[in-house]
Amino acid sequence: MVSTAAPIQIEDSVTEFLKPPRKMLIGGQWVSAASGKTFDTYNPATGEVLARVAAGDHVDIHRAVAAARKAFESGPWPDMVPADRAHLMWKLADLIDEHCEELAELETLDNGKPIFFSRIVDVPTAAQTFRYMSGWATKLEGNTIPISAPGAKYFAYTLRDPVGVVGQIIPWNFPLIMASWKLAPALAVGCTVVLKPAEQTPLTALRLGELILEAGFPEGVVNIVTGFGETAGAALAAHPGVDKIAFTGSTEVGKLIVTAAAGNLKKVSLELGGKSPNIVFADANMDAAIPGAANAIFFNQGQLCTAGSRLFVHNSVFDRVVDGVAQAAKKMRIGPGMDPATHLGPLVSKEQLDRVCGYMDSGVKEGAKAVAGGRKVSGPGYFVEPTILVDVKPEMKVVREEIFGPVVTVIPFRDTAEIIASANNTNYGLASAIWTQNFSTAHRVAAKLRAGTVWINCYNVFDSALPFGGYKQSGWGREMGHQALELYTETKAVCAQI
Ligand code: NDP
Repeated sequence: MVSTAAPIQIEDSVTEFLKPPRKMLIGGQWVSAASGKTFDTYNPATGEVLARVAAGDHVDIHRAVAAARKAFESGPWPDMVPADRAHLMWKLADLIDEHCEELAELETLDNGKPIFFSRIVDVPTAAQTFRYMSGWATKLEGNTIPISAPGAKYFAYTLRDPVGVVGQIIPWNFPLIMASWKLAPALAVGCTVVLKPAEQTPLTALRLGELILEAGFPEGVVNIVTGFGETAGAALAAHPGVDKIAFTGSTEVGKLIVTAAAGNLKKVSLELGGKSPNIVFADANMDAAIPGAANAIFFNQGQLCTAGSRLFVHNSVFDRVVDGVAQAAKKMRIGPGMDPATHLGPLVSKEQLDRVCGYMDSGVKEGAKAVAGGRKVSGPGYFVEPTILVDVKPEMKVVREEIFGPVVTVIPFRDTAEIIASANNTNYGLASAIWTQNFSTAHRVAAKLRAGTVWINCYNVFDSALPFGGYKQSGWGREMGHQALELYTETKAVCAQI
């Protein structure tokens, strides 16, 4: 069903923000790219140009790293007491909340996602992430260590130091949330940052940069360089002045980051792709499992690293679940994200649309059957139908590779041993879910799944306190929770003879 309701009126501040070519934030100043080049960002609902943005490259990355280094080593930031860092972060969270509508509209215009979700998920999550992490600024403790070396007495303890200048490269699926997941723990522990947003969705990061200055962060603590991955991103990953690189995106680019980081052996954390198994047992509460399975794959147009893209259903309830998810898919209103009635917005770009359509075609060519969707939506914009594929085989590309679109493959299973093997039969290991009313089944299977997150009778529940990251080729390290602090700190052992 394609939505036809009137789009909401865009806030005047958003219209103003979109007008001038947007500059980058380096050393507390808004600057053009040294080359003077710009690039366009598009509205995926129409395919039209939305705004023009500075095209930073290695020269601008170098400038930004120098500014971040200066801010890390001199100026007010290194001497700021933890409570003051926490206060700044809390102030930033308040500013994000105050500007919720404006940020939500920018996110929806740039990324395509329904405005309803931008308002209730993306912007509040960003604010909450800064609030949660601000609390850790004052709680970074070391330990006292008993020493057994003979012949003398020692007093030894550990300190937690910020790792230094951090490069952060983020994707386009949750631009503001990704910026906050990266920035908040790094700032809480006292690092300085060069952030590179995705070329498709730079706008909310730039508006966040303005709010960061308004909150009062010292110059150079956060630098934001817009540009392309192959130029600005690669230069940041390879830069010898960067102590740590944090990346979210494709597994393919994650491997390039690791190689680029080897030059100065900077620390690396990666949050990469997924092909998450979502398992429905015969005794599941179907009133929860069926809509849960639909949301797991269709939320954010399926452009989610945790998307429940491999739906495994016990063969005794297979037809019922497939039919229920298909009904949910057919009821979804497809339309521009700015239309408040929209459930499913466009994909982020023409490139992503072609990629997702390519997967759907390859699935059908290899013998899969689409029981819902399966096609691009005709007309302007990058819309695709929510799609359910059955009659799939484990060796098919649609089952093995991350599609990153609203396309789910549904696979029957007979018993617990079989489902554990099938669920783990992937190079990825980011997330997974189990739907059952049997407490014992749930926890036995949870223990066996090789994934960083297991949801039981729910899906896509994220929390600032819950560690998030992947097994296998889904990444290195855990974001969120106190584990995120490990990514941005070094442990220093101090040992004194007394
Ligand atoms: P990428 O992995 O290419 O992009 C993620 C970020 O990395 C962007 O900021 C990008 O910059 C940057 N980047 C790209 N190439 C390099 C490089 N050589 N060195 C440093 N940084 C680089 O994802 P795509 O946008 O190409 O999407 C392709 C697929 O990746 C999707 O279909 C999906 O499967 C997966 N993906 C996974 C995500 C996740 O959350 N795990 C998020 C996004 C995508 P720029 O965009 O400016 O080129």
